[in-house]
Amino acid sequence: MSWLNRAKKGVKTQAPAKPADAEGLWTKCPICSDIIYRVELEKNLWVCGRCDHHFSISARQCVDLLVDPGTFEETWKSITSLDPLEFKDAKEKYSLKLKKTMLRTNLSEAVLTGHARLQGREIVLCVFDFAFLGGSMGSAVGEKIARAGLEALSKRVPLVIQSRSGGARMHESILSLMQMAKTSAVLAKMHEARVPFVSVLSNPTTGGVSASFAMLGDVIIAEPRAQIGFAGPRVIRETINQELPEGFQTAEFVQECGFVDIIVSRKDLRSVLHRVLTFLCPMQNEAVITSGSTVEQEVPESAPAAPPRSEHGSAPQHPPMAEGRLVPREIGLHGSG
Ligand SMILES: [Zn+2]
Repeated sequence: MSWLNRAKKGVKTQAPAKPADAEGLWTKCPICSDIIYRVELEKNLWVCGRCDHHFSISARQCVDLLVDPGTFEETWKSITSLDPLEFKDAKEKYSLKLKKTMLRTNLSEAVLTGHARLQGREIVLCVFDFAFLGGSMGSAVGEKIARAGLEALSKRVPLVIQSRSGGARMHESILSLMQMAKTSAVLAKMHEARVPFVSVLSNPTTGGVSASFAMLGDVIIAEPRAQIGFAGPRVIRETINQELPEGFQTAEFVQECGFVDIIVSRKDLRSVLHRVLTFLCPMQNEAVITSGSTVEQEVPESAPAAPPRSEHGSAPQHPPMAEGRLVPREIGLHGSG
């Protein structure tokens, strides 16, 4: 009998086990093809040390990187999407897809909301998770963002939203699109009351999210080379029938067009956010950053955030929110772009 032939037909054999050290210890960078040791990558906050590519990370990882340890308290965890249209795609029902995604990601929706402290300052924070149906905005996501805005408004603390989304959730059709108006309306109220909102755009921020709240920040920060736009480049190319410029829809391109204020690497995001918030709404005894210098300014304890604008347009009682469009140099920031 030959050792290379099976004696019986239909006998199943086990695939040879992979050596333990080959499983998940190395990651290939999709941009420079460098093979990176995962422990090193994690230490470097999931940024490629060779080409500065920012790997996609989960919402909970983002929260851990941004806020003071142990200060994040999740809110509105129970708000989840329903399926009023009983939508079903070629593969499965939307309701089933939602349940599977919730189990896989351990999230109730594509956005994680809560309040936390950033270098001691209280903030309301919303972070998107792309692993949850492409970070898409359905009715529950819109509701959570709107409630986060209203919470920031009532407490008069800054709102920070880190977006990472493919846009509106098509499974919910018009209900998703209505969230664009709802979230924008809450932000308009915040703007009127002069409560700051900082928008952080991660890769990718597109569709209905970029066309609503993500582009309405008092300061808009983007990750290097993040894709930012509305429709995808292929759709645009086929519609206008023209070649698109190099770097189209990257954070750097969008910044040149004036839609992004600062481009900030992930490892600097926490400190830059702190500086931006210090500029927008200094806490008690905190230095107010002005063009090229810092000025110590006493802010009453009762006014942690920017004060409401007077109806008659007179000067506000306390300093915060500088008038007019903010530019990076005003807050002493130049980012990496
Ligand atoms: Zn790389």
